[in-house]
Amino acid sequence: MALNVVMLGPPASGKGTQAVRLAQARSIPKISTGDILREAAAGGSELGLRAKALMDRGELLGDDEMVGIVRERLGRPDADSGYILDGFPRTVPQARALDGILQEQPLVIVDLAVPDAELLQRMQGRRVCGKCASIAEPGSVSTAACERCGGPMITRADDGDGNVRQHRLEVYARESKPLLDYYRGRATFQSINGAQPPDRVAADLVASIEAMAPVASGRRL
Ligand code: AMP
Repeated sequence: MALNVVMLGPPASGKGTQAVRLAQARSIPKISTGDILREAAAGGSELGLRAKALMDRGELLGDDEMVGIVRERLGRPDADSGYILDGFPRTVPQARALDGILQEQPLVIVDLAVPDAELLQRMQGRRVCGKCASIAEPGSVSTAACERCGGPMITRADDGDGNVRQHRLEVYARESKPLLDYYRGRATFQSINGAQPPDRVAADLVASIEAMAPVASGRRL
C-alpha cells in the first residue's frame, strides 16, 4: 500500500530531518517544497528569483503556484508508491487542493509540536548544506563541510535575521496553524512532541504511522 504522509509543524520543528529519515526507511521520495524553491532560486529561474525574495523575508508563495508545483511533482512516477510531503500544505486552501489531488487515496498527517522559544533557538543555530540542502542534525558538532556531499555548511538566509525568524513564526501561526483544525478530526491525524531528541521523535513518528496506516488504507485494526 502506498504510504502518503504530510509532515506539519512550525519552521525548525524538525520536519525536514524527520522526513528524510522516514523517506529513506520506506524508500519513498521526500518532497519538500522549500527544497524545490531553493533549487529554483539557485538555478536563477524567474520563479526561483521571486521565491528567494519571499523566502528571505519569511513570506509564503501564493497558493495557486504552490499547488501547481506539487501537483506536477506528485504526478511523477516515483511518487506512485508514496511520498513524504515536507512544507506542503502550508495553508488551508493548499490542504483543500491536496485533498482534491489525492481524491480517495489515503493520507497520514503528522504534526510536530515544538514551543516557540525552542524554535527560535533552533533556527538561530541551524546549519544547512549550501550545495545539497542537507540539514545538520540538531545538537551535532558543527562541521564546516556537509557529511553527505562535502558542500559548505551555511546559515539559511531566512534563519539568519532575528526579525525574519520571529516573522516566520507569526506567518506560521496565522497561515499554517489553522491546518491543525482542518485535519484534527481525521482518524489519520496525530500530533507528536517534536521537542524531544531526534531519535525519540523518529521512534514516535514510526509508531504513529504504524498505528495509522491501517486506518488510512481502510483496514481498521
Ligand atoms: P521550508 O524549507 O519548508 O521552511 O520553506 C522555506 C520557505 O519556502 C518558506 O518560508 C516559504 O517562503 C517557502 N515555501 C515553502 N513551502 C511553501 C508552501 N507550501 N507555500 C508557500 N510558501 C512555501
